[in-house]
Amino acid sequence: MKLDLRCDRCLLCSGRNNVVGPSGDLDSKLVFVGEAPGATEDRIGKPFVGKAGKMLDRLLAENGLPREKIMITNAVKCRPPNNRRPTREEVEACRPYLIEDLQGRCLAVALGLTASEGLLGRKVSLKVDANKIFQVRMGKEMVSVMPTYHPSACLFNLTARKGLKEGIALAMDQCGFTRTCNES
Ligand code: URA
Repeated sequence: MKLDLRCDRCLLCSGRNNVVGPSGDLDSKLVFVGEAPGATEDRIGKPFVGKAGKMLDRLLAENGLPREKIMITNAVKCRPPNNRRPTREEVEACRPYLIEDLQGRCLAVALGLTASEGLLGRKVSLKVDANKIFQVRMGKEMVSVMPTYHPSACLFNLTARKGLKEGIALAMDQCGFTRTCNES
């Protein structure tokens, strides 16, 4: 389903400033899927442009991957109030847009538990499932999905930071991107 900028499929429409759709290279084989827009994303109308976005940019850059080369989107396209996690119902209401986002891709990297559980359709433990690739049905297609750590967790947790950096490297290898190692 094409993203509707006047969407009212769930109640998040009542508090949003912007429907935050995908950004970056919309034809990229590699897609990163976050949870939902935060305050900055809601104001600007682009995903991952706040603090978590800066961390994501940094870990992409450490692997030699500019964000312009990938597509970045969210499981839920409108900001939940007070930055709470989106509910299962909100993720479900937004799923037709995510199915559209993921059509014909090589790999969807699910950032954090909300995106991972929304895409895999089950409880996820990142200790167990992070940086492993699973096949899931999205609409009429099977899509490869790799759960990993959310960039927000990486702001304070070095284990998560190492895990996400390794996940980005694995995702690049899987989709044929050339990696360079740029330590900051
Ligand atoms: N910004 C986003 O766009 N998504 C998140 O999951 C977090 C911050």
